[in-house]
Amino acid sequence: MNPSAIDLLQSVFGYPSFRGQQQAVVEHLNDGGDALVLMPTGGGKSLCYQIPALLRQGTGIVVSPLIALMQDQVDALREAGVAAAYLNSSLGADEQREVERQLLAGELNLLYVAPERLLTGRFLGLLERTEVALFAIDEAHCVSQWGHDFRPEYRELAILHQRFPEVPRIALTATADPRTRDEIVERLSLHNARQFVASFDRPNIGYRVGLRHNAKRQLTEFLQGHEGESGIVYCLSRKKVDDTAEWLAELGVEALPYHAGLDAATRAKNQKRFLREDGVVMVATVAFGMGIDKPDVRFVAHLDLPRSIEGYYQETGRGGRDGLPAEAWMIYGLSDVVTMSQMIAQSESADERKRVERQKLESLLAYAEATDCRRQLLLGAFGETYPGPCGHCDNCIAPPKTWDATVPAQKALSAVYRSGQRFGSGHVIDILRGEETERVLSLHHHQLSTFGIGAEMDEKQWRSVFRQLLAAGLLEADAEGYGTLRLTAASRVVLSGGQLVKLREDARPERGSRRRRDSKIGASDKSSGGSLGIEAYEQSMWDELRALRTQLAKQQGVPPYVVFHDATLLAMLRALPANEDELATISGVGEAKLKRYGRDFLAVINAQE
Ligand code: ADP
Ligand code: ZN
Repeated sequence: MNPSAIDLLQSVFGYPSFRGQQQAVVEHLNDGGDALVLMPTGGGKSLCYQIPALLRQGTGIVVSPLIALMQDQVDALREAGVAAAYLNSSLGADEQREVERQLLAGELNLLYVAPERLLTGRFLGLLERTEVALFAIDEAHCVSQWGHDFRPEYRELAILHQRFPEVPRIALTATADPRTRDEIVERLSLHNARQFVASFDRPNIGYRVGLRHNAKRQLTEFLQGHEGESGIVYCLSRKKVDDTAEWLAELGVEALPYHAGLDAATRAKNQKRFLREDGVVMVATVAFGMGIDKPDVRFVAHLDLPRSIEGYYQETGRGGRDGLPAEAWMIYGLSDVVTMSQMIAQSESADERKRVERQKLESLLAYAEATDCRRQLLLGAFGETYPGPCGHCDNCIAPPKTWDATVPAQKALSAVYRSGQRFGSGHVIDILRGEETERVLSLHHHQLSTFGIGAEMDEKQWRSVFRQLLAAGLLEADAEGYGTLRLTAASRVVLSGGQLVKLREDARPERGSRRRRDSKIGASDKSSGGSLGIEAYEQSMWDELRALRTQLAKQQGVPPYVVFHDATLLAMLRALPANEDELATISGVGEAKLKRYGRDFLAVINAQE
């Protein structure tokens, strides 16, 4: 009798039960149906096609856009005793021939291929001579021109349906917006596919957003809560990446830079260290991350505003794939909005695209400035209603105070209007505060009725007001990206007294209280043992388990998490299995790994007792 899906889940992957919709997807595919799967990063998409590929006759063909990703998945599958291989440009001619031979001989359960390879006449010809269990199209949003990772070759993949109509297909993505989803269905001819849409909530990620006042000090304080942990620090520019990485390294943090300006060898080397060593912090532009499925990333920090909520969610989603606590932390300033607007304005995209990008930036700013539950807002952006508050974001933990700022808002809007809607916030603030700067004088703005009407607030407070007015859509920045401000339809209602404006009180920060508030949030308390909550008495065993894992991983040339995830080591630490039977019950310990590593781990665990 053939093994069932649950048998394979337990014996091969060592997991006790399916998550969310995994089982439904597996059964649907096993019965020969097509599927479109939308699950957040870390949701467990891989098993949705790996298990059906093992259940069905023939080889599962997985289309994947990134070489690094393929290699990782294949390593992990081989560790679990699955016959898996990949075909891409990193292999030599002999190795390629050997993989092709295995495919034709029916020796492979799973074969990962790059789309351009799959589409060659030669490869399609090979497939015609083999039995194909299923086609899995990973990162399916790459077919979408509106998505952020458009790959023209992905569009050709519809050919699979024409040439192999009987073979079930599964497309998977973590990009949730409805527009991208429709485009996937259209482009890949998945009209008859059943859609499996998971919740995009990532309950183990805590969200925190703050104003940037001293980036270095803020980042240092943040990292103190994550000592020895792996994480990613995102910056907007290459230069900032280099500076930040260098400065962190001086502080003794294992920090490495990653951006498109580094040569390929350095990038590959840094990425490899991030994957294979414990506790490396990658400082990167958004060039880094896609296809990195390191499960134990404990934090994702943004030192600048990302481009969109989708981008932010995907970047922060790289934290905590193993389900253990992770922190998404961001600091930003008004200058980011100006820089981003400029980047959009100066890009070579079509006008319609620029308009879309501006809207995306605006919703991100609204998220950053929000005073309500951040999770609710994020999921709302993906069309999901979250019955919050979540209790696990900064706004839930310490709800921000708001104040009635209708009068200052009216003053600000009026100053923008009177000066002709042609200036940025800096100059308008000078007018409000009655500063006789050269520019003010030469433009005769000291003669405006709004000159000096806002002297009761300092520059910083005014900046906060302008930022929040932008975020609330009561002001808009010009499309050309000069940072000049204009009124919107909504601002007129405020000016005429028809609407109250409530703004956050961060215009009046008090150092002491703010710091106390920060330390309540997230896992920044060192005595709690970092994100994973390792107690002092457990520390030495934890270190030994990790050291053993690193040593075994090195011997085999794979990243440590391919041997066991943090979640699995943590379960060992807590359960202290005394023998192989007990060890086998730990989530993540399958038969192959039990055989290969069981004795070594038991030796470490039992030696300490
Ligand atoms: P995705 O591709 O959706 O980002 P993965 O397939 O990489 O996610 O899975 C994320 C993590 O969750 C992996 O480390 C995987 O081993 C683990 N995982 C997946 N399914 C289960 C399950 N049913 N039980 C326990 N862990 C699981
Ligand atoms: Zn919340």
